[in-house]
Amino acid sequence: MGGEKGEAHKVEGSYPLRAPKPVGQRISNIYRDRIAQFYSHGQWEKVNLNAMMNEGTASGHPHVKLYVWNAPGQERPTFKEAVKHDFAPTEVGKWFGPSWSTHWFKALLIVPEELQDKKHLEFQWDGHNEGMVWTEDGKPLQGLTGNGERTEWILPTSFRDGKEHTIYIEMACNGMFGNAPGGDSIQPPNPDKYFQLSKADIVAVNMQARQLWIDIWIIGDAAREFPQDSWEEHKALNVATEIIDTFELGNKDSIVKCRKIAQQYIGENVDSAKVYKTGTEPMVYGIGHCHIDTCWLWPWAETKRKVARSWSNQCDLMERYPELNFACSQAQQYKWLKEEYPYVFDRVKEKVKGGQFHPIGGSWVEHDTNMPSGESLVRQFVYGQRFFESNFGERCTTFWLPDTFGYSGQLPQLCRQAGMTRFLTQKLSWNNINKFPHTTFNWVALDGSQVICHMPPSETYTAEAHFGDVKRSISRHKSMDQDPRSLLVFGKGDGGGGPTWQHIEKLRRCRGISDTVGLLPRVHMGKSVDDFFSQLEPEADKFVTWYGELYFELHRGTYTTQANNKKFNRMSEMMLRDVELLATIASIKDSTYRYPKKNIDDMWEGVLLCQFHDCLPGSSIEMCYDDSDKVYEKIFHAGHKILKDLYHTLGISEVKSCTVDQAMALNTMPWPRKEIVETSADECGVACGNGSILSVKPFKAGGDEEGVVVEEVREGVFMMQNENLQVTIENGCITSLYDRKAEREVIPAGGKANQFVIFDDKPLYWQAWDVEVYHLDTRKELQSSITNICEQKAHRVSVVTETKISDKSSIKTTLSLSAALKGQPSYVECTSEVEWHETMKFLKVEFPVEVIHTEASYEVQFGVVKRPTHYNTSWDMAKFEVCCHKFADLSDYGYGVSILNDSKYGFATVGNLMRLSLLRSPKAPDAHADMGSHKIRWAVMPHQGSLGPETVRAAYNFNNPLKLLSATSGVRQGTLNKHGQWPVRITGDPSLVLDTIKRGEDDEDVSRGDLATKKGQRVILRVYESLGGRSRGTICFDWDVKKVYKSNLLEDELETVDLDRGKFNVDLKSFEVATYCLVLS
Ligand SMILES: [Zn+2]
Repeated sequence: MGGEKGEAHKVEGSYPLRAPKPVGQRISNIYRDRIAQFYSHGQWEKVNLNAMMNEGTASGHPHVKLYVWNAPGQERPTFKEAVKHDFAPTEVGKWFGPSWSTHWFKALLIVPEELQDKKHLEFQWDGHNEGMVWTEDGKPLQGLTGNGERTEWILPTSFRDGKEHTIYIEMACNGMFGNAPGGDSIQPPNPDKYFQLSKADIVAVNMQARQLWIDIWIIGDAAREFPQDSWEEHKALNVATEIIDTFELGNKDSIVKCRKIAQQYIGENVDSAKVYKTGTEPMVYGIGHCHIDTCWLWPWAETKRKVARSWSNQCDLMERYPELNFACSQAQQYKWLKEEYPYVFDRVKEKVKGGQFHPIGGSWVEHDTNMPSGESLVRQFVYGQRFFESNFGERCTTFWLPDTFGYSGQLPQLCRQAGMTRFLTQKLSWNNINKFPHTTFNWVALDGSQVICHMPPSETYTAEAHFGDVKRSISRHKSMDQDPRSLLVFGKGDGGGGPTWQHIEKLRRCRGISDTVGLLPRVHMGKSVDDFFSQLEPEADKFVTWYGELYFELHRGTYTTQANNKKFNRMSEMMLRDVELLATIASIKDSTYRYPKKNIDDMWEGVLLCQFHDCLPGSSIEMCYDDSDKVYEKIFHAGHKILKDLYHTLGISEVKSCTVDQAMALNTMPWPRKEIVETSADECGVACGNGSILSVKPFKAGGDEEGVVVEEVREGVFMMQNENLQVTIENGCITSLYDRKAEREVIPAGGKANQFVIFDDKPLYWQAWDVEVYHLDTRKELQSSITNICEQKAHRVSVVTETKISDKSSIKTTLSLSAALKGQPSYVECTSEVEWHETMKFLKVEFPVEVIHTEASYEVQFGVVKRPTHYNTSWDMAKFEVCCHKFADLSDYGYGVSILNDSKYGFATVGNLMRLSLLRSPKAPDAHADMGSHKIRWAVMPHQGSLGPETVRAAYNFNNPLKLLSATSGVRQGTLNKHGQWPVRITGDPSLVLDTIKRGEDDEDVSRGDLATKKGQRVILRVYESLGGRSRGTICFDWDVKKVYKSNLLEDELETVDLDRGKFNVDLKSFEVATYCLVLS
């Protein structure tokens, strides 16, 4: 209360009575914008921090002397080969090329006296292309990226003696993303690009200045990116401002002072890994990574060098940054390194042992998961895990596919069976229709198996370790209610060499900020991806679930682009199945026959390599397809040779033609078959039987079988008819398909099946990858010429039609109907020969059918997925183009239509319209993708009942025709079994498919010695349930088997199976994949 008498109040302290001067509120945006000026290049670089970054530079004679040898053409000689040549003097400023050429430089370096006692010396080299530093005696040390990125190699102390030292630099005339002209990296490469060597200097670096640069970069980010209503943002701006004001050009002490000021914001420990040892709970786990596309905008040969360059960098960085943990996938890349860069491989091994370098992923390459067959997915893991185990002593526990274009719904099951419980990807963040709703969740396969899936919320696998990446690790985390932790996968990919020292320094400061001022999620380094998942695992039972495929809402064109590659993939998968089956039988039957494990491994490794996520999907440059064509050529060559040897061993011989009484047919499918085989141009027979070697009886129309007829019923209208189907064809289209047995019309009134349609195909950007939803609006029906009868035999009739696509492109289509055989489904078979020379057009073929259902079925690996036939929601709409394997099917409960194919993967079903995708014509990154001739087969197969085993089997058979054999040499009795049966057979529910028969990887007579061998002979059987329902059956065999056990994909012994007089029972859940191992006595 007032009123007290006494002395007037005296103002305490020094707060002056009168304001000495006006003080304004800082105009934040201007101060914020000013921060970058402090360290940017351009007009300020001579007066800002950059001017003090270096303490001295030596260039040119006598300190840096350069000599070069230009390797001829596109050769990539080894160090040993290169240094044998004469090197000619050269200098900075010269140009080197053309694209893809290699230039070896010899650099003679003398550190000038005035630099010898400087703290940190670097050799800085910028050829604006990729390079590798080699020692004088041929050790590859480190990669160089070019264009200002990773241009430095730290000089060893031994170079500070004033004497001349030699290093070599191998220059590759390509940038990180190949040789595209201009700024658009997916354009086809310019073959004539040249690169200027712009820098080759010895530089003494002021490390305090360099550190201050990172300090203010991150503090500046905090000022820019923290919410503007937060005190943390204001403080960042104040600290940055104080640093800039304290800096004095030319005064090294001022830099030290600036760094001291920075500590107010980033703490005191950012100069070492100590910053992470605060005992506080981290949220974000940083893991170094280097996504190297095994091929993409450069050929495979360049990838091998990218791997060596990048991984050397990491080994080098680990020496200086103990917190760096680096995860790298793809066994193939490790194998290349082992073969071609043993020095680097040993260095990597050392770092793996030391716990900083982490092989991850468990697969051969980071493969596509839409198109490879089930068995291919299995082998990705078998070959991958075996490589990792045999070279590094351990299998991987995390499947790693950050960049693949959608994920098969069977992957969780296969992962679990390959020893992996975790899965990482992030590609779904590229969805351009619906946002995927989870970050961390349990992903559930078609059979109910699950893995923990994490999608890094920073939404990249090549993060620059920016402040913003750390921040987004929480702000975009969609599963925070379950677990807030996340992974931050950082490091430059594709030749950028993985994490840089800048990345690691930035993360130290981010952590410093979290522990000093807070607000930024606490990032941690020093843990592996496995450590991260191990922390999640105990919590996983409360994570949300996602059942079935992770459909990627982009890159739908990749089911179709590069048709030949896809056809080769299908053919090689089929061939390997036969090879392994027959080789297994031969190796057991005949002790002189040696299971050709090396050749089979080589074939598989080739197939698996070509399934890389830019190869099989069709998104690489032309050079990569030249490469993969060669790989497939080798595969087919090797496969044919093995088969020839096998036929010889098994006493059979494949023939192009023979007489019917000499003919037999080889069936490699595990079910009975009854099919017409043509034994010569004018003779045919019916192969029939339940086993391997089928006898062939003469085909007699009017006897057992009714035969097939064709006639022109009206002008230009043709009718083909067998006992099951009556097909009306007009101008190449099926206007009526009448099922005589079901008494049902398959084509709706006015509908035209087998109608070719063409669409404009100009996606938003990614040409080879994407087909966009709006292409559907541009549908045009192609008009065909009149149809003619081209084949009229008792067993088969055909009509042919020509369809003009444009002046340059056309289709010749043969529609055939074979005589119906009792108990066998009939289908209309179509063979199209396409001459294709279009630009940004998409060719498809349509089948309207008289079936109504809201879902269609598509064959996928080891099963079937159902997808909507409507556009109810944006999630349904997004599936306007989907992937299928050998068949797609639209059925109601009593009837359906299956479309079989021999080499295609793209499909769509809209309402009652089924549509098979045939050919695309993108012009980037391969200017000539799919141009030329194609032969494509498909079939329309109506069936009674809903989708069932007859479709599954017909699709296999369609892709694996019976092989005509001649029995003239006499099929060696009992080679397969005395009844011509397979020595191993499955009976029971017809949805069970005995898909793979092979020898045990580690059997002593088979093993290649990569892992410990096992005594005796084993046969591995892979069986799956193909239609979605519990199925039971019996597997019996003629071999002398002493034990059967159920194993995983890696052939580990899991549980013993009861064996009862040469057979055992199988009982599989929906879409279960089961592997059994038969141990022979
Ligand atoms: Zn990639």
